[in-house]
Amino acid sequence: MSKKIILTGDRPTGKLHLGHYVGSLKRRVELQNSGEFDDIFIMIADAQALTDNADNPEKVRENIIEVALDYLSVGLDPAKSTLFVQSYVQELTELTFYYSNLVTVARLQRNPTVKSEIQMRNFEASIPVGFFTYPISQAADITAFKATTVPVGEDQLPMLEQTKEIVRSFNRIYGEALVEPEILLPDNAACLRLPGTDGKAKMSKSLGNCIYLSDDAKTLKKKVMSMYTDPDHIRIEDPGKVEGNCVFTYLDAFCKDEYFEEFWPEYNNLQEVKDHYKRGGLGDVKCKKFLIKVLNKELAPIRERRAKYEQDIAYVYQVLEEGSKRAREVAQATLADVKAQMQINYFEDKELIQRHIERYQK
Ligand code: ATP
Ligand code: MG
Repeated sequence: MSKKIILTGDRPTGKLHLGHYVGSLKRRVELQNSGEFDDIFIMIADAQALTDNADNPEKVRENIIEVALDYLSVGLDPAKSTLFVQSYVQELTELTFYYSNLVTVARLQRNPTVKSEIQMRNFEASIPVGFFTYPISQAADITAFKATTVPVGEDQLPMLEQTKEIVRSFNRIYGEALVEPEILLPDNAACLRLPGTDGKAKMSKSLGNCIYLSDDAKTLKKKVMSMYTDPDHIRIEDPGKVEGNCVFTYLDAFCKDEYFEEFWPEYNNLQEVKDHYKRGGLGDVKCKKFLIKVLNKELAPIRERRAKYEQDIAYVYQVLEEGSKRAREVAQATLADVKAQMQINYFEDKELIQRHIERYQK
């Protein structure tokens, strides 16, 4: 039977937030602990982070340890998952170079995620080439590990489509060497793309609208209390809207029925709260206070583990270094296959050399 392999990762452009958690991290830990996968690779995408932070290497450098701490805090286990740093696996850049011959500029321009990211960064007039082509480098990351499964948020759908197209082109032109991956999206609709605390479509490090996994209870409280709700819900008696109201989206993502008994026994489940809010007579503050309790409960074990690993930073770096070495070995083997299929393995190909000797033998 063919192997089941996971590859996924995050850009070290900041600490990881609730969007990462529900969109991908939580799923990774479940998959890791399911024992169903032959191999799991979790990548800190520093090279990709530099594509739109070329002038700020310090930011990337300082955040590698933060992302690694977040990984260990949510329960990724180095004994089960290989945690590694992208730039240490040089083979990925070589794969990117070869794959870029299989993709047109027009195809890259159609990528909706990249389009909106270009807008968000005001890159319209001056897009760095590396940023424009990062979907190709993501295809290299995924295929280097022969990943079958990529657990990510919805914004990654176009990247997975691009990867599949590259795999198909490669295998058609050069012969089967690459594996077509499947995207694994969160089952809970609220987790596909968790909005920011400002109500913007996506919680994102680049937008500064995040609740971080490493935020303490005080910071969390402040962020939730000033969170975007329904701007037309002015007086408590007014009917309120739950659609597009962050408090309810976050509750959809995090709340479990058992939390009502523990924190808000007047209701049995989230639907009852939503119905009351929609009828009118339920204020934002009560809902926010409940959300704070839910989030603190969910974050408690993560904060506890983080505090422990923060006391052993040398160990965390060692995990990344060892993981990067192991990841590199795997990528080297894939690159060797790729080069053989592309017929750019001249010195290993004794038959080729012999044929050329014979061509000129009198
Ligand atoms: P940046 O702003 O630097 O792009 P980001 O917050 O978008 O950072 P990434 O490192 O680009 O984070 O994304 C890492 C992973 O987390 C991806 O799988 C992405 O789909 C997922 N993810 C990021 N933000 C969210 C979100 N708000 N909701 C669901 N998933 C998310
Ligand atoms: Mg992003």
